[in-house]
Amino acid sequence: MILDGKALAKKIESKIAQEALEFQKIYNMKASLHTILIGDDEASRIYARSKIKTLKNLNMDGEIHQLPATSSQEEVINMIKDLSSRKDIHGIMVEMPIPKNLDKNAILSNINPIKDVDGQNPINLGLLMLGIEDHVPSTPRAVIRILEEYNVPISGKNICIINRTPVVGKPLTMLMLNRDATVQVCHSKTRNLEDLTKSSDIVVVAVGKPFFLKENMVNENSIVIDVGINSYNGKIVGDADFDHLLNKVAMITPVPGGVGSVTTMLIVEQTLRNAQKLMKNQGI
Ligand code: NAP
Repeated sequence: MILDGKALAKKIESKIAQEALEFQKIYNMKASLHTILIGDDEASRIYARSKIKTLKNLNMDGEIHQLPATSSQEEVINMIKDLSSRKDIHGIMVEMPIPKNLDKNAILSNINPIKDVDGQNPINLGLLMLGIEDHVPSTPRAVIRILEEYNVPISGKNICIINRTPVVGKPLTMLMLNRDATVQVCHSKTRNLEDLTKSSDIVVVAVGKPFFLKENMVNENSIVIDVGINSYNGKIVGDADFDHLLNKVAMITPVPGGVGSVTTMLIVEQTLRNAQKLMKNQGI
């Protein structure tokens, strides 16, 4: 069975469009997301543009702030502080990757936590550890939303996550633990990965390597969530060997049309939720 992220994204989209219109009528302004793009990473530019396009189609607003790769730490932080203080902005995010000379944690710490649409401010990551899920990174949230949409139980299940980054693996581990799963977090130094994936109920793969998760790493009851987005022979493919796994496993997400579609929509949804909360509390 294919877990259709595109269909779920459409479902969320139709709900948001109506709510965003109501927000605009009540407050005479649009819920608005501003993203900061540092340098010239082509994939980041495409993601940023696609988010803004989606926002604008849904009675919301958005803007990309382009900074040169040579920007200093101070310049980036000053821009984040300016955006954070504006009452007409409800969501802020910094597109990754950023140039290596910049201190990522220092930059993300300056995003106002209540406008942090991708849950990357250390305060929000810390709250997630305490089980408070107000501003959670969008990709792991998309994984959970897909499982919930298809009524896949998480409580008591064995989950294998192949990724330990603060964007995917670590926050997803917390989301899974908060839902009573037993989690194994794997990475490039993990031994016997095949045994671990094969004996898990749900496998989440996010290594950034096409066809990484193969038939010998799953069983017929496996549920495979493919987070990977790779360019391969001019096509976008995931990290799972989809064609060979489709008839072998119980459920699998496609790429494209899986986790990525839901991730974008959740950032848009979070922008609206922030806007509703901020305006209810009269601004910042
Ligand atoms: P990343 O920073 O390179 O992290 C990759 C992770 O995979 C690391 O934890 C790494 O382990 C692990 N890994 C690499 N090779 C491995 C191996 N041979 N065996 C086991 N683990 C291995 O990449 P990322 O930014 O997290 O992204 C991963 C993939 O997800 C990419 O394809 C990216 O495009 C995609 N992505 C998709 C979304 C979405 O919304 N769908 C969002 C973010 C990322 P170490 O920690 O030991 O290096």
